[in-house]
Amino acid sequence: MSELTTIDEVNEFFDSAATFLKLDSGTRDLLKNPWRELKVSIPITMDSGELKVFSGYRVQHNAARGPYKGGVRYHPEADINEVESLASLMTWKTALVEIPFGGAKGGVQCNPLELSNTELNRITRRYTHNISHILGVNRDIPAPDLGTNAQTMAWMMDAYGQTYGYTPGIVTGKPVQLGGSVGRESATGLGVFLLLDQIATDLNIDVSKTTLAIQGSGNVGLWTAFFAFKRGFKIIAISDVNGGIYSSSGINIDELKNYLNENKSIQNFPDSDPITNADLLELECDFLIPAAIDRVINEKNVANIKTNYIIEAANHPITPEADKILLDKNVTIVPDILANAGGVIVSYFEWTQNLYQHKWTEERISNELQTIIINAFTQVKELSYKENIPYRKAAFILGIAKVVEASKLRGFLDK
Ligand code: NAD
Repeated sequence: MSELTTIDEVNEFFDSAATFLKLDSGTRDLLKNPWRELKVSIPITMDSGELKVFSGYRVQHNAARGPYKGGVRYHPEADINEVESLASLMTWKTALVEIPFGGAKGGVQCNPLELSNTELNRITRRYTHNISHILGVNRDIPAPDLGTNAQTMAWMMDAYGQTYGYTPGIVTGKPVQLGGSVGRESATGLGVFLLLDQIATDLNIDVSKTTLAIQGSGNVGLWTAFFAFKRGFKIIAISDVNGGIYSSSGINIDELKNYLNENKSIQNFPDSDPITNADLLELECDFLIPAAIDRVINEKNVANIKTNYIIEAANHPITPEADKILLDKNVTIVPDILANAGGVIVSYFEWTQNLYQHKWTEERISNELQTIIINAFTQVKELSYKENIPYRKAAFILGIAKVVEASKLRGFLDK
């Protein structure tokens, strides 16, 4: 793997767009550097009685356009560098889709698969208490990400409320019973699917003959698979952290969902063959959808990637080095800051509903999500065609330009 850290890699994408926008070095410094970074210790008594100290982070990257917004990740490799890079991606994502938020991200370095529910509850409460002085409904609003879910958000909301009083708008992605929004759980996957379907429509292709390989079957991967299956796409492979399943005739995602509920794993799903995560990424397919972790397509495997389209459902799944090679091979890449924006768009709807103590219907949520994400995609496509640049560069240019504009209006930049 390259010597670059994740934040160096995200900043490589940033710099390419900043050069197009002719941004000077001071402006680049203002936009690249997080406005605030917080590292906290999280001491927890484990179920065994042993004391363990976990590390937690919250990086507030930029709030020129609105309160900080971004998920909280529980993962063994979550560190300040990764969290900073993800916070930066949130800034460009919220700007690209024009919702009134800045960018932030949080993380706790832990393996949620090895922790009991009571341990996770304690970690979440202590983490929330320790970062609560920089959170706020008009300041910074967390959400779920890798390794966290609606239950985690319910614990965060409760822990925050113990000090500050009932505040449902402090997190998004909560259970609907606690003020969450209908459609939030499926929103990121729905957004990925809407872009997939738009490309299929633009290309006028027969979806029943269009093959998809999806890495990850958590929140984003499984919902993407669910919507794509309903539309008639053929999902030939899907995976989790332990490996994947493959079927050349297509996997029935309704049955897989039931199987997953019963078995808590996708392994040994009937009428499918096992496949490793590495082999899944190298399958011959029309669309490859990484929906798990960062940097899975890199200089080691890029030569073996055999797809025409990659939709980045995960954040930063392709290193800049691999990105260049794929573009040379004419692979079309729908970048993370557009592809997975459905989650933060519906988080914005949830936050708005909490502020006004109002409830929207699922139909309204889906329609407004579709309008926003397809409009952003249209802008990306138009700039990409006009300037003959890849979608990623176009998306970064559009997002960064909006943050520059807001920074000028606030008086951070003189010219
Ligand atoms: P999740 O925890 O619900 O699911 C993650 C999936 O990836 C699981 O199937 C897990 O088994 C698998 N996985 C974990 N480690 C792996 C590894 N080393 N190799 C292969 N597979 C592995 O997480 P999620 O919420 O679906 O998030 C997935 C990606 O989407 C992340 O990059 C996240 O930042 C991004 N994302 C999530 C949201 C959201 O709303 N949840 C929004 C935007 C972006």
